Formats: sequence, structure tokens, C-alpha cells
Amino acid sequence: MDFPIHSLIDEAQAEAWVLAHFHPEGVSCPKCQASVSVARHFRKTATSGLQVYRCKRCESIYNLYSGTVFAGTQFRLSQMVLLLRGVCQGVSSS
Ligand SMILES: [Zn+2]
Repeated sequence: MDFPIHSLIDEAQAEAWVLAHFHPEGVSCPKCQASVSVARHFRKTATSGLQVYRCKRCESIYNLYSGTVFAGTQFRLSQMVLLLRGVCQGVSSS
């Protein structure tokens, strides 16, 4: 029986965790390093629900996973945090 543990974690809490651990100095454009404050909200991805930014300086598109091993994946933030939790604990990803 699958246990939908990803529904037990709040997306806002997962976003705060990702920001603290992946972007401790703040989110910035991976191409020109401009702060996210000079980017505009471009869209939200349908599957992961991630906010996608477009840099006003260089026009690059990025999200919280850009520049990480999770770049290009469609995990929701809560799924990604729980996946990392499982890896760190050595438990099955299912
Ligand atoms: Zn840029």
C-alpha cells in the first residue's frame, strides 16, 4: 500500500526549507547572478507548482531548482524535501 506522505508536508514549509538550504544567500539568476528582486514572475509550472522567474537583466528563465541537481525535474517542493529526507535516512523512495 502506497502512503501519500508528500501530502503531509506543507508546500510553504518545503519552500522555506529549500530557500534555506539551496539558496542561503537568496535566489538569484544562475546566468548573471542578478537578484530575484530584478526578475519578474513568468509563470508557475503545472506539475511542480514552482514559480518560474524571468531575469530582467539577461532574460534567462529560472526557478528554485536551477543550478541544483533537481534542475529540470518536476517534483513538487514537498516531494523533493521528502525524497532528500529519505535519502539521508537511507529509506526507500517509495
Ligand atoms: Zn540574469
